[in-house]
Amino acid sequence: MNALCLLPLGPVDATVIEMLDRRLSERFALPVCRLNGAVVPGDAYDPVRKQFEATHLLRAVRAAAPHDRTTVLAVTMEDLFIPMLTFVFGQAQLRGTAAVMSTARLDQRFYGLEFSPALLRQRALKEALHELGHTIGLTHCPDRQCVMTLSNAVQQIDEKGEDYCRSCRILLADTHRVPA
Ligand SMILES: [Zn+2]
Ligand SMILES: [Zn+2]
Repeated sequence: MNALCLLPLGPVDATVIEMLDRRLSERFALPVCRLNGAVVPGDAYDPVRKQFEATHLLRAVRAAAPHDRTTVLAVTMEDLFIPMLTFVFGQAQLRGTAAVMSTARLDQRFYGLEFSPALLRQRALKEALHELGHTIGLTHCPDRQCVMTLSNAVQQIDEKGEDYCRSCRILLADTHRVPA
């Protein structure tokens, strides 16, 4: 990863963006830029599913990049899907430069529970690291503690840690000069 920008798509919790800016900048040892918020592209909306198609959004995310080699992580509160799945927490181009994540299902209120800002931010960090891991070239990891493990439910996100496992870190450090 050469450079990283955050792109809010639609209204997004400002404390989530703040946290991602700080934590991702620390994790990848690079400055994080913040792009002006954009509206969620309406043509990605599926009125039957009442969700936005993640792969479709990735094209718009890519178009917002200020430079070819800048990785852009878009964050939205809208619920996302890909055709073969009920929903996705996020989606990324493998070894690419575009990623999108949704905070919809990271929020306790989605499950009829009391809002927890701290839990929302913790889950958002894990999801951001997961999607960015894909852009850097990591695939799903069998280590259930690793952020690169596949999470189909929010409980699985809560069960994993806030960083890459040792083997994922070695891979990142060796091939992409990401600090271990
Ligand atoms: Zn994944
Ligand atoms: Zn791993």
